[in-house]
Order: sequence, then C-alpha cells, then structure tokens
Amino acid sequence: MKQDRTIRTVGELVAAGLLPEAQREEAERVAQRYAVAITPAVAGLIERGVATDPIALQFVPDAAELETRPEEREDPIGDLTHSPVEGIVHRYPDRVLLKAVHVCPVYCRFCFRREMVGPEGLGTLSPEAMDAAIGYITDHPEIWEVILTGGDPLVLSARRLREITARLAAIQHVKVVRFHTRVPVVAPERIDDALIGALKASGKASYVAIHANHPREFTPAAQAAIGRLADAGIVLLSQSVLLRGVNDDPDVLAALMRGFVEMRVKPYYMHHPDLAPGTAQFRLSIAEGQALVAGLRGRVSGLCQPTYVLDIPGGHGKAPIAAGNVTQGPDGCHAITDWRGGVHLYPPPVDVA
Ligand code: SF4
Repeated sequence: MKQDRTIRTVGELVAAGLLPEAQREEAERVAQRYAVAITPAVAGLIERGVATDPIALQFVPDAAELETRPEEREDPIGDLTHSPVEGIVHRYPDRVLLKAVHVCPVYCRFCFRREMVGPEGLGTLSPEAMDAAIGYITDHPEIWEVILTGGDPLVLSARRLREITARLAAIQHVKVVRFHTRVPVVAPERIDDALIGALKASGKASYVAIHANHPREFTPAAQAAIGRLADAGIVLLSQSVLLRGVNDDPDVLAALMRGFVEMRVKPYYMHHPDLAPGTAQFRLSIAEGQALVAGLRGRVSGLCQPTYVLDIPGGHGKAPIAAGNVTQGPDGCHAITDWRGGVHLYPPPVDVA
C-alpha cells in the first residue's frame, strides 16, 4: 500500500507493515520517549519483514533504544554548554549554529539530538528568541559562517526561511550560510523553486549539507531534488553517520560516496556515532571505523573521500580520527602506508644551503 502521509504513531507503523504486531508494546514505550516520523518517501524504501533492512534500522523504533548505557549522554556533543542565547551554539570562534527549529521530517533512531528534537522537543524559536539570536550574530563580528541546523531547517516554509536568510544577508561580517538537512532525500517533493530561492542569502555563499547514510536513499526523486539544488548554484556537501548494520560495509560506503559525487555532492563528513541515549546498537569501535574509512582510499576516487570525525563528548568540538598514513621510519625517514597496506620510506629533507 502506498503511503501518502508521514507515519507518526506505532499504530500507523503496524498498519503500514513496518512493525510486527508482536513488537507493538515495546515500540510504544520507545515512542513515548523518542519521536517517531517516517515520510512516504522513506516508507516506500523499507523492505517489509526484513528486520535488518538498513533503512528500517535508521527509522523504525526498536526496543534496544530503551536501554541507556552509563557512557551515554543527553547532550552528547555539548550544545548546551556553548549556547550563549537560545537557538545559538557558539563552539568555534568563526561560526555558530542557528537552531531555528527542533522538528525533523523523519526521526533517526541514532539521532545525536534526540533529547531536543521532536514534537515534544524544544519547538521553533519564538520571534523574540529569533531576534535575540540574530542580535547575537550581529554583535559578534568574528562570526563568518552561520550553520542552520536543529532539527531540520528545511521543514520551515519558504517564507520563514527567506526571512531568516534575508536577516543573515544583512549582516555584513557573515559571508557563508550553511544548511544541514535530510529533506532532499526523505521529502524530496519539498525542494521546489520557492524553497531553493529561500536558501540563497543575497551576496553570501549558500551551502547545503545533505544527510544520507545508505545508497538506497538516493531514489530517482531524491536525485532529481538534489539536481535542482545543484542546478540553482548551491554548493552541496554530504554528511553521513557510520552506523553498525546500516553502512559498516566497504561496498555500501563506496556506493554511498560515489552516489553523492554523481549527484554533485562533495563528501564532507563521515561522523562516528555519538554517545546519544539508547543508541549503543549502532556504535562500532573507532578502530572498525578507521578500517572502513581507510578502505575507501584507493578503492574510490579522491573526490569520494569524506573526513572521518568524532564530536568529542562534552562539547570539545570535532576531531578527525582517521588512521594516520605516516609513522616514523628509520634514519629520519617517514614510513608511508599506501592504500593496499604497503609501507614505503620517504626521506627527510636535505640541507641545500
Ligand atoms: S534529521 Fe538530524 S536532527 Fe533530525 S532526527 Fe535525524 S539526525 Fe536528528
């Protein structure tokens, strides 16, 4: 049966064949704690009756989410410790997050902000809070880039988005406006001329970072939506999360990165999963992640290489965590590991004076 509206309840999940009746009770308990939403585009992608389906794993609530481990945190990347005014996260000197909305078109079961997003979450910034957030950006001339995230900023109407981008465009020291979104993939029909126009902050560079984790998410409709963004001159970047059971496979990762590049989306971030509550089932070790990311090198084009990063728990920012290719060799040489694992010595510089 074709889904024509977003699924938001466990009853609707069961009725759509996305959840077995036997799991209804536990799923209800999960849904009381964390938001659930699956758009028609995503519902159409999920293979019914396959518990290991990589799309289902990302969006269908699971009893494992009820178990919070001691190392997990409500605010795993420390947004709240860097929030000078509501809606702003100022972690690095030259850029801020502007969290205009805490609603998403889908709710990812591994979400790093799962305690903040959803219909019961922090909601949309009030007009007064938005004024204060814009005021903060205006008062801080070191802010060169504003990153709209949340929640998903592209759930806002084109009119609301245009208001925000116009206000940012009026701030002289802001040069770059970046949007982080899952909408082009999970609700591609929203990417129309009005929304694309609203993403352009006059006189500034607009970037859109598109979140996808499995190549099956790149449906013809998603490809067309992303093509519309690229054709409009918006620079496109990717972001993905390395997730056990979803994309912890060299072939899947290679197809995901190639898929992005084929759509004119430059692979940007590959996130190690955060310590969000109830997400241990998705977390692999950093060593496993390093091996997977190293496996992309040589196997796929340099264009297809994302940066593997960890948001250091507690709000200390992102750190690249890919395994190094350079170690100390004999006689002052460096030992360089190639993509097949071969080791080669590179000599130290000579004194030519
Ligand atoms: S789209 Fe982003 S913010 Fe929203 S639920 Fe997914 S990971 Fe969380």
